[in-house]
Amino acid sequence: MNKQTIRDVEVTGRRVLVRVDFNVPLDDGRITDDRRIREALPTITELRRRGARVILASHFGRPEGKVVEDLRLDPVAQRLSELLGVPVAKLADCVGPDVQRAVAQMHNGDVVLLENLRFHPEEEANDPAFARALASLADLYVNDAFGTAHRAHASTVGIARFLPAVAGLLMEKELIYLSRALEDPRRPFVAILGGKKVSDKIGVIRNLLTKADALLIGGAMSYTFLRATGLSVGKSLTEDDKLDLARSLLEDAAKRRVTFRLPDDVVVADRFAEDATARVVSAKAIPAGWMGMDIGPQTSAAYAAVIAGAGTVMWNGPMGVFEFRPFSAGTRAVAEAMAKSKAVTIVGGGDSAAAVQQMGLADRMTHISTGGGASLEFLEGKELPGVAALLDR
Ligand code: ADP
Ligand code: MG
Repeated sequence: MNKQTIRDVEVTGRRVLVRVDFNVPLDDGRITDDRRIREALPTITELRRRGARVILASHFGRPEGKVVEDLRLDPVAQRLSELLGVPVAKLADCVGPDVQRAVAQMHNGDVVLLENLRFHPEEEANDPAFARALASLADLYVNDAFGTAHRAHASTVGIARFLPAVAGLLMEKELIYLSRALEDPRRPFVAILGGKKVSDKIGVIRNLLTKADALLIGGAMSYTFLRATGLSVGKSLTEDDKLDLARSLLEDAAKRRVTFRLPDDVVVADRFAEDATARVVSAKAIPAGWMGMDIGPQTSAAYAAVIAGAGTVMWNGPMGVFEFRPFSAGTRAVAEAMAKSKAVTIVGGGDSAAAVQQMGLADRMTHISTGGGASLEFLEGKELPGVAALLDR
């Protein structure tokens, strides 16, 4: 990690504005998954221990630049307060004289949470005056919002022009695991890619072809690849404008001698529904009118064997429509093989992370990224603007 972190700077008695990603799922005002809040605790706790005044800032949902009552951060402040065991005041706004006054009254170790940054259109527009107003609240800026680091917003990029800017501990952890996998992986390095679209993951496949020893493909994107090799895939979800691209990726893999595996067998359904009629067929014989919903048992076993022999496993994208129980076996098989493996195991991608969580295997992975979009861009080899803005070591 070539960026400075909170370990490298003096924080005692200083006002520290910490950009966190508290964009948690809410159902009827209740937080249904507080992982993003818990993941920010190490940074908050460390700053408090060292006597900083901690000013937290986050976006929440998509209010699109205006105040939306349901998108206030009060439930988040309450949950955070429970987790920390100290009061966390939620301020009525994120900039302005009232906020200035509240911050001026803070003592060392206090924690406040600013109101949803995206109530102001200037946040997403990366408006310099808004960034300066945020910066005026603090002496130091910490970015711990890995999940938003691929967006150049006022609170992720603009603010770093006005304050010394360093990484928080979650940001550091994400960057260490993801960059080690790309730059110095324990080998064999196996990447498992699934999910909905090839087009979402072209950049990742391209970059991983230059880094990984093997790519295992599942999910809907495998049908575009299967079609590209000349097979019929029935009613399976495909991107027909990506067939040439899929062919060129397959050729590139062959040229580089990277193992590139497509499913040998698949679970097909007569329609897209949980209670559809399902059967297992060879990937070479998908019947017309049926659609591929999951990798088959033979493929699951083969992928699990590759995972068992891996040094590093990077997984992004479910193997099938895991939200429907009859089509979740492939995703479960990969998750279980990773949980059992001695490899460094990393899960990126929002839906894959949710699947692992749901299957109760989260504790058995080396690292689950908190940023779907951000981890994808990182794996594409792009520099994340929110990371670029931080001070170099
Ligand atoms: P991630 O968030 O992990 O990067 P994606 O967003 O790319 O993953 O894709 C996840 C979605 O892909 C899931 O909702 C899943 O149902 C869907 N999916 C996986 N396999 C198939 C398939 N064979 N047909 C249709 N949808 C699929
Ligand atoms: Mg997704």
